[in-house]
Order: sequence, then structure tokens, then C-alpha cells
Amino acid sequence: MKPRVLIVEDEPGIADTLQYALRTEGFEPAWCATGEEALARIAAEPPALVILDVGLPDASGFEIFKRIRATSDVPVVFLTARSDEIDRVVGLELGADDYVAKPFSPRELVARVRGVLRRAGKGASAPAAAGAPAGAAPPRVLVVDEGRMQIRYHGRLLELSRYEFGLLKTLAARPGHVFSRDALLERVWGNDTESMDRTVDAHVKTVRAKMKAIAPDEEPIRTHRGSGYSLAEDLPTAT
Ligand code: CA
Repeated sequence: MKPRVLIVEDEPGIADTLQYALRTEGFEPAWCATGEEALARIAAEPPALVILDVGLPDASGFEIFKRIRATSDVPVVFLTARSDEIDRVVGLELGADDYVAKPFSPRELVARVRGVLRRAGKGASAPAAAGAPAGAAPPRVLVVDEGRMQIRYHGRLLELSRYEFGLLKTLAARPGHVFSRDALLERVWGNDTESMDRTVDAHVKTVRAKMKAIAPDEEPIRTHRGSGYSLAEDLPTAT
């Protein structure tokens, strides 16, 4: 069955191009031009993925995104036109699955759609399009929202305990840096004298399991035998 992709975009030219590209690549595109219509369609017939323009006539894409998230986990790829929009998408508060900046090539967009669906475990197993996307920064894989004590991984919220949050936040603050168990105990557990080395190990284990549930093929937390733990240096992170 072809994955259905709902395009929410008020410019018919862009919507046409996207529909054509998606259809060519084995998807079943649908299109609507307003946020309200998008919400109605998502409720009536949930798509595999939503491509959501930020600049819509009736409401901002950000607002529509929040309303989608109130009822649905459907993966969302933002279309953005301005750099301040991009900042918000990759920033702390949204946690979209990915974004593409206008102008973009249809091929790049389709590659992003494929990547997001793959991470979401919803198929789309056709070969990935070649070529590095032009004009777009890589999406932040790990986003720490200090204020809300939340961490998103591949756009998904990790359900973390207080200490798990502290542990991952500490590692994410310096990707590649090896933290000893003592250093982690001090930073995360502070004066809790009951804690010991194996407290750190146990929490690393549960955090890993939660990340693995989202991205089974990735091992972002590295073990350094005898010295401690680090977060993979190449992991795109925002704190
Ligand atoms: Ca628009």
C-alpha cells in the first residue's frame, strides 16, 4: 500500500510540484490549502505523514502543528521560507520530525519524507534518493528543552525520570566529551550520598533503552571502558 502524504500548502504551484514528485516516488499525495482543512482531514483519514507549510492563510503552521500534536503522533515535516522560521522549527519548543527550507528541490523533500517515515517505522522502503540536500541544515536529532525538562529525540519526546533527564542533558551539553561516573554523579545526583557508580550505569541503561525504542539502529551513548560515558560527537544536538 502506498503511504499517504498530506500536503498543507497554500501556493498551488508548490503543491503541484510536490504532488508530482511524491506520486513519481511511490507515495499517494493529498493536498489542502488551509490549516483548518488539514486538521479535518487528519482526523477523518490519518495520513502516514504531513508536509506542513509554516505560512498558511488561516493560521501559522506552528499553531496547526500544536493542534495536530494534541490528538495525533503523525510525523510532520515543515516547509519554511524564512530563517527565523527555521530557528523556531529546530529550536526548543516544537519538536517537528524534520523541515525543509524554501526553495527546495522536490527530490530533497522526498528524501526527507522517506527518512522520517523510516525513523517512524512506517515503511517506505524504496531506496533513498542520492545527493546531499542543498540549502538546509541537518535536523537536530536531540533537542534539550531545559525549561520544560524535556528532551526530544528524532522529534519524539523521551519519557525520562528526573535523573535520566539530568544524565542525558549533561552528556548532550558536550557531545564527544567523556564524563567519568564520578563526574556524572556529582553533576546529576549532587549530594545524594546513596548513589554510586552502578547508579549511573543503571540510568544509562534505561536511557539507552528509551532511545533505542525510537531509533533501534543508533547507539548515541558511548561507553568508554574504565573511564565513563559520552554522547556521540556526530549527533546533531541542540540545547
Ligand atoms: Ca505559504
